Amino acid sequence: MATEPTSDTMSITLPERAARIGRRGHPWFYADDLASQELPKTALVRVRAPGGRDLGLGMTSNGSSKIALRLCGPWEGSGVPEVEEFLDRRLSDAIALREAGIGERTGERLVHSEADGVPGLVVDRYSDVIVIQSTSGWVEANRGAITAWLVARFSPAMVLMRGDLPVRKREGLAEEVRLLAGERVDEVEIEEDGVVHRVRPWDGHKTGFYLDQRPARARVRALAASARVLDLFSYQGAFALSALAGGAREAIAVDQSAEALARATAAAEAQELGPLTARVGNAFDVVRELRADGQSFDLVVLDPPPFCKSRREVEGGKRGYRDLNRIAMQLLAPGGRLITASCSYHLRGEMFEDVLRQASFDLPFRVFLEERLGAGADHPAWLRLPESEYLKVRVLRRVEDGTGVGDSG
Ligand code: SAH
Repeated sequence: MATEPTSDTMSITLPERAARIGRRGHPWFYADDLASQELPKTALVRVRAPGGRDLGLGMTSNGSSKIALRLCGPWEGSGVPEVEEFLDRRLSDAIALREAGIGERTGERLVHSEADGVPGLVVDRYSDVIVIQSTSGWVEANRGAITAWLVARFSPAMVLMRGDLPVRKREGLAEEVRLLAGERVDEVEIEEDGVVHRVRPWDGHKTGFYLDQRPARARVRALAASARVLDLFSYQGAFALSALAGGAREAIAVDQSAEALARATAAAEAQELGPLTARVGNAFDVVRELRADGQSFDLVVLDPPPFCKSRREVEGGKRGYRDLNRIAMQLLAPGGRLITASCSYHLRGEMFEDVLRQASFDLPFRVFLEERLGAGADHPAWLRLPESEYLKVRVLRRVEDGTGVGDSG
């Protein structure tokens, strides 16, 4: 591979083998793919296929990552922009896409890593608070410029980095949570469809909230009228609150975290969205207890943490999804619906549906697959990077024999 610095730019011609990977579409290259040759560290480079075809810009790693080069989209001309110019274009584009397609929101993802052409950078906004995640050496090296851009654009009360992510280790980056600008804000409110969620940027899950489940929350709300609802793995009850706002007659939220459940009940009380019953416990046990108790629900939400975090864990993970989904289906009242999710990237959509099929195998009623949902449009999936489509949500419905659809609806 030739790395030839021209005046202030750098261009890389991929070896034939890496170019083949590139042609299949995947935008990451490992050191081996690149014939293990030296690359400049944390640099923007112009990437070319053998023969000179332009593949746009790439970002090199800090030397610690196995991923040596990540493509980050087309760029006009044949050179490499300054970091500030690159960031200004990519971040402005990301925000413009959201303003055009999504509208004004108090909580949304502004930048979704490779899909927005800045591999390793996530930017979430909660009202006047901005939380970033940095998972690539390039982003880490340019954190200051990124923060300065966000401060100039939004004048936020706080810019926080949630770097408490195990993947940072693979990039040779320390796990840390750090205030990058402004003053410490412990809790911030966002409003979604009239429901207020209190987000904790410093210690909440992910960057504070599951922004990605917005479409599923909207669906739950739309299906909840008069429903008895079970929200499994509820965290701070976002689904249960949406259901109650949609007219559910009762919601039970189940989580192993008493603290998260306390926030769920406090939110329901503060907004007079009741009755929300919290049940602390292991969801695997609780669903069996509910089944033994003969309980049934019009709407069950099943949104567990990822059971397969690597390819090796897929087989074991499938068993967990299958068992839980089977019991969740058994808890459905006639005509009831199960909104079931998997955020394990390694369990691809078809595999997840296979697991759901197996879970429904010997049930005494039919189960329809009514709808396929995923993360919202502020978490776009880049076709070239299957990893960016990690969240799968399926709406299933219990259907009775001889009654048209289901007794209750
Ligand atoms: N549905 C939530 C997000 C779920 S995150 C939302 O929309 O906001 C996964 C949750 O599962 C976490 O709150 C975690 O505390 C909980 N959890 C993990 N394992 C569990 C188990 N075995 N039983 C009950 N809760 C569990």
